[in-house]
Amino acid sequence: MQISPTAKINLLGLDRKAMQDFFVSMGEKPYRADQILKWIHFNGVQDFHAMTNISKVLRERLAETAEISVPQVIYEKAASDGTYKWLLRLSDGNCIETVFIPEKTRGTLCISSQVGCILNCDFCSTGKQGFNRNLSTAEIISQLWIAVRKLSQLDGVHDHAVTNVVMMGMGEPLLNFDNVVPALHLMLDDFAYGLSKRRVTVSTAGVVPAMHQLRAVSDVALAVSLHAPNDELRNKLVPLNKKYPLRELMAVCREYFKDDNRRSITMEYVMLAGVNDQPEHARQLIRILEGVRAKMNLIPFNPFPHTPYQRSDNDTILHFRDILLKAGINTTIRRTRGDDIDAACGQLVGQVKDRTRRQERYLRGKAKVSKEMIGVTS
Ligand code: SAH
Repeated sequence: MQISPTAKINLLGLDRKAMQDFFVSMGEKPYRADQILKWIHFNGVQDFHAMTNISKVLRERLAETAEISVPQVIYEKAASDGTYKWLLRLSDGNCIETVFIPEKTRGTLCISSQVGCILNCDFCSTGKQGFNRNLSTAEIISQLWIAVRKLSQLDGVHDHAVTNVVMMGMGEPLLNFDNVVPALHLMLDDFAYGLSKRRVTVSTAGVVPAMHQLRAVSDVALAVSLHAPNDELRNKLVPLNKKYPLRELMAVCREYFKDDNRRSITMEYVMLAGVNDQPEHARQLIRILEGVRAKMNLIPFNPFPHTPYQRSDNDTILHFRDILLKAGINTTIRRTRGDDIDAACGQLVGQVKDRTRRQERYLRGKAKVSKEMIGVTS
């Protein structure tokens, strides 16, 4: 009889607590977790034999039972503005995209949380690719692992440091809560990436119960994809709104940082010509944001094939911003980056082995929101 070798555990996906448990289960001391985290994430070492402060015996035991495995980089693209995009192939053949956006004082990595997305927001090309599965913690954190290594190989290392991470790539992070949270822990852990809690942002379309849960376990920054100031319009643009309408969403937003009045939620609002960009929409926004400590971030729409939407023109965006500013709402306009390599917001598509048939129906012009997929019953 042939005995199949048991699958090795990928240590890349273990946060400090899980790593301590792993070593204790091997009869080792928990502090080994700190050493290994540093080797993996700080030093980027994948070979146990190179971990010189660990005994040879333990290194050999680790090599037998564990691995440090990252997705394969299929390609790297550099945009004219310095933005980088990587296509990563996962072990099951699905591909995801990760984007690095350098700015004067920071470098932001935009990472994915799912292969595709279930939510099917009307103006987002990721949604049109359909959905395959959640990413594991290892697959989420490996995007940061890979980016740090790739960027350090470029000239002028200091211009290419990852100082911020935003979970604004493919997928809805709060529908992959259990795998996302340990990845957040690793981002903040001093033995791994040591990022500040204010520089790691979870972006959500508004999964209200998971927002309460997130608040209880992590103090990273929060962005909410608002995009519309009333339920009628938001139901169309962000179908998840049918399950968690604005009243509920705004209630959790009011509560979210109530223990720290220096912090606020970033509200993302994609500017769609003639759809959500009129002065009356700005005035409605002012009303629903009452009592919410929020900054508005207006995102000029990034077009993609077959979309019926168009970007609002500059004057409209500026006028919209001014109405909000006059009402005392801190409002910025997001500069579009990386659009010559399809790396801008809402343009990340990867290669999704779609299980929803949405991709196919979209291309035939027949895509509909699949209510059962997001749990909308009415
Ligand atoms: N599901 C999460 C994470 C995705 S974030 C969320 O909804 O927040 C991606 C951000 O880019 C969201 O604010 C999204 O609404 C925005 N976006 C999506 N498609 C876009 C497009 N075509 N142009 C500009 N912004 C877009």
